[in-house]
Amino acid sequence: MSEWQRILKEDSIATLEHLADRFGHDVIDVEALKPAFDNFQMRITPAALEQITAVGDPMWNQYVPTVQELDIHDGIIDSLDEDADSPVPNITHRYPDRVLFLVSPVCASYCRFCTRRRKVGDPEKIPLNQYESAFAYIRAHSEIRDIVMSGGDPMMLSDRRIEYLLQNLRAIPHVEIIRIGSRVTSHLPERITPEFCEMVRKYHPVYMNTHFNHPRELTPKVVEALGRLADAGVPLGCQTVLLRGVNDDVNVMKELMQRLLKARVRPYYIYMADQVAGGEHFRTTVQKGLEIVKALRGWTSGLAVPHFVIDSPGGGGKVPLLPEYVEEITDDEVVFRNYEGKRFVYKQPRIPVPTAGCAADDSPDIVPIEIAKTPRRKHTARRRKSVNG
Ligand code: SF4
Repeated sequence: MSEWQRILKEDSIATLEHLADRFGHDVIDVEALKPAFDNFQMRITPAALEQITAVGDPMWNQYVPTVQELDIHDGIIDSLDEDADSPVPNITHRYPDRVLFLVSPVCASYCRFCTRRRKVGDPEKIPLNQYESAFAYIRAHSEIRDIVMSGGDPMMLSDRRIEYLLQNLRAIPHVEIIRIGSRVTSHLPERITPEFCEMVRKYHPVYMNTHFNHPRELTPKVVEALGRLADAGVPLGCQTVLLRGVNDDVNVMKELMQRLLKARVRPYYIYMADQVAGGEHFRTTVQKGLEIVKALRGWTSGLAVPHFVIDSPGGGGKVPLLPEYVEEITDDEVVFRNYEGKRFVYKQPRIPVPTAGCAADDSPDIVPIEIAKTPRRKHTARRRKSVNG
């Protein structure tokens, strides 16, 4: 057994009784939490446990079950309708040139807001013996150039199994990019072993989509693990979920994005929390997300500003949301405000407009443009004179 497997098995908390022993039976009501636990399993690794500093803090909220999970209002079990776009087991083919490939049913720690909680943790719902039909599907669809391996967490598989997956995908000529969606860098940094890094180099380009929700997750051990991946040539992106009681705060998000960048991770998405049954208490308003993006854009490096998206309920895919910067667009000009709220005008270029009939006779008519008669040269000369004089 490798060290990371031992940590997972022996040092993590995976039962409510164990959780109550750790935090007190007055805090953890084992009986009351049992239905939530039965609905979606729990495991908290030592790295995630270390990050909890108080009951109800942002880390606690991400991993400790609550009775609120049983309170269903607008929640949907398969909120992104992934199963409807699944042509073969373990594959979701929603976008034209890429597929989601579920390769592992388990995670190091289980996040209470998980969108895929209907399947995650259950090997029957993400079977490990159905890879062949997934490979065959990808092989038969030459438009697929990008594979996102997910689950569960692909990094919960042994190196041998991950290499088997990478080898098979790399043997398909039209597969250009492989991405591994994983939260182990935060939950189990010990999993990023030198052996894994050595192995993955052979199959580049392999990207990793990490997942961080709070700056406190970037501990020294975690930053070292990210460095090992970056040194192995794995480009790192981060997906963050906007969560009430975790990171619905401008300063927290700004610190997270800046610290990610410093750890060689490019912030990629901030997602609105999905409308998933069991995770509704994590949802906040879209306005809050827009406020956060507005507080990032212009106020910190553009590299630290991810796309803010809603993954459309019902399977419409990701839609980007932007704060309102543009006040007016006409054929002549665009009026907008910058990050400080100051107003600016951008003049539209004077592009020849084809007149009616141009398509029919195939000879583009050029609309004459009146040239503004500004005595530029004279003006410049006058300015020079005044500067020199
Ligand atoms: S690591 Fe990802 S897949 Fe696993 S429980 Fe958390 S959000 Fe869900």
